[in-house]
Amino acid sequence: MPRLELDNSLKNPDLDEYERPSHTIEAYLEDNLSEEASLNLAVHQDFQSANSLAYISACGDARQQEPMAIRAYVDRRIGAGINPEKSGLPFNHPRVRFAVIRPHYAGSTAVPGKTPQGCGGHLAVKERRHIDRQYEADPLLIYAADRIAHEDPLIHGLKLARRLARTSSEGKPVILAPYDHETGGIKVVAYYQRRGETMLDLTPWDFHLPLDGQYDPTKVYANGIPDLDRNALPSFITDYLGDYEHTLAQNPIDQFQQRTQDPGAFMITTELRDSALWLPRTYEKPNSGFRLTLYQDQDRRVSPDDQNIALAQARYVLRHSVANANIPGTSFHSTRTAVIFTDNYSFSRNFAGRLVQSAQELAGEDKMPSWFSLPDRRLIIGEINNGQIQRIGKIDVGVDPDGFVRKFDEIETNIHRNN
Ligand SMILES: [Zn+2]
Repeated sequence: MPRLELDNSLKNPDLDEYERPSHTIEAYLEDNLSEEASLNLAVHQDFQSANSLAYISACGDARQQEPMAIRAYVDRRIGAGINPEKSGLPFNHPRVRFAVIRPHYAGSTAVPGKTPQGCGGHLAVKERRHIDRQYEADPLLIYAADRIAHEDPLIHGLKLARRLARTSSEGKPVILAPYDHETGGIKVVAYYQRRGETMLDLTPWDFHLPLDGQYDPTKVYANGIPDLDRNALPSFITDYLGDYEHTLAQNPIDQFQQRTQDPGAFMITTELRDSALWLPRTYEKPNSGFRLTLYQDQDRRVSPDDQNIALAQARYVLRHSVANANIPGTSFHSTRTAVIFTDNYSFSRNFAGRLVQSAQELAGEDKMPSWFSLPDRRLIIGEINNGQIQRIGKIDVGVDPDGFVRKFDEIETNIHRNN
């Protein structure tokens, strides 16, 4: 058993009764070719052509939905754990106008004087202190230690926002706007904008204290989570926030469903357009997919390091899903499909092989079965270009009870478009 405690405190048995979208290559193709997907991608293209996209750093958490994905590139990592200097690449792209750092928390935990809770990534940082040395070799915990700057998701976000703003020589603004995954509500806690060698900073004073190492939630949250005066923000940011709140009001979030993270699928992709745009029927609702971004460099290559970072985060899903396989209503109990989309089909296939291998290693370490050996598990791979699926396939993975991968066969493949 993993020594890292699984958080099953929010068990939600009725969740199993929710109807889930189907994850088959036929359903994905139909969804991607739908009128809704084409319209989404066309509107996204308009925002892109107007150089007015937001770069959003969010958590991979399935409950974290982006109502304004239509005008954004969404970069998902556990705990919104970007490397700001590396993420300077998409952020400083001419199509992007500003950035939103969006860690998440459960609104019901946000009470005056207390640290907001609810993201497993931040929990891992906190718990890391209490686990034995052997376990510290776990790539997931190494990821958390490297990429999550503070156990408080908002202070972590504050540090990232400041570092990211520094990468913009033209002074693109960065806001810290944490997401309450129970309601989808958004607040603007901080604003940074580089002005030459100085930094315009609208963050409340109490929130600066933890940057110097004096973290005291009773002081930081004496008045709850701050929300900056919107009049102080540039109009393109207030427009974004206004559209966000309008869209959310029209599509309110089912709070009951949001209590436990239990998506049908987890996806790893190089595509910065949100899957809710190009697979709307499958991914538009919250809690439908845990998603991770595979970072590409300027030559569109994914370095071995960045592949490992994605695989380390995938452990979070695999571990919960295996441990909770027989407990309905718990985290990742229903997660039965793994999906990989990159801009190169052979790369997706190779990376899928690495994911299977990584699940096998994890099974050995945790003394648990491999996720791929459980019933009804599915692996979908594909090639995607500008939100359009170019090719899609399904891989039949056979794993012996002793954990050895017996087969890795592509059983179906479908060419979608010929550009
Ligand atoms: Zn999270």
